[in-house]
Amino acid sequence: MPSDEVLVSCADAALTFGRGAQAVVAVHGADLEIRAGDRLAVVGPSGSGKSSLLHLLAGLEQPTSGTVTRALGPYDIGLVFQGDSLIPALDVAENTALPLVLTDRPEGEARLCALAALALVDAADLADRLPEEISGGQAQRVAAARVLAQAPRLILADEPTGRLDHATGARVLDALLTAADHTGAALVVTTHDPAVAARLTVRRGMRDGRLLAPEEVP
Ligand code: ADP
Ligand code: MG
Repeated sequence: MPSDEVLVSCADAALTFGRGAQAVVAVHGADLEIRAGDRLAVVGPSGSGKSSLLHLLAGLEQPTSGTVTRALGPYDIGLVFQGDSLIPALDVAENTALPLVLTDRPEGEARLCALAALALVDAADLADRLPEEISGGQAQRVAAARVLAQAPRLILADEPTGRLDHATGARVLDALLTAADHTGAALVVTTHDPAVAARLTVRRGMRDGRLLAPEEVP
């Protein structure tokens, strides 16, 4: 359920890479509010600025102009990156437990939490495998489980289904929606796939670094 609590607010937030003739405006003055319980898809073609916008929301990039305000601590934000993000030397359960171990949860408790999260995304049988022993779709489900275990208040997922076939992508999305529902988190997913966007409650288009107005259907 969306609520009135604003977790992140962008006001005319812009992000430019480089300077002078080489400058690339990745995000033009974007206005956006993410509230508790939101389910938002940011939809646009490759190069339209989706990752840059997500990085602004996460605080991985500072706006070149305008402001991004967060009512969240760093561990209240869970990121699912585009592409591989599992640590090769850790097995799936250890990867999933990592955010908890990093925040000083006792190891046994962190492992139990990780196993429960893996079960929720239908990946319990992968617990003892290394990342190199699982498929891309499985790895994205594990990334969803890791965010579930972390139980952040905001989940930011950057093209989590980008390199997956339709059925596998749908399962990854199921996992992220489960994670968000289970923890009560807001969920923002970037995608170029209208079928993925359709699974979220609200859609905002992006074109050439511009976040389209809500009524401009992507
Ligand atoms: P999307 O995620 O929609 O594919 P990006 O946010 O990755 O789009 O990129 C938006 C624009 O910003 C593109 O033109 C891209 O080349 C440029 N860009 C992204 N990251 C950087 C960077 N670190 N340095 C320079 N240009 C970048
Ligand atoms: Mg991207």
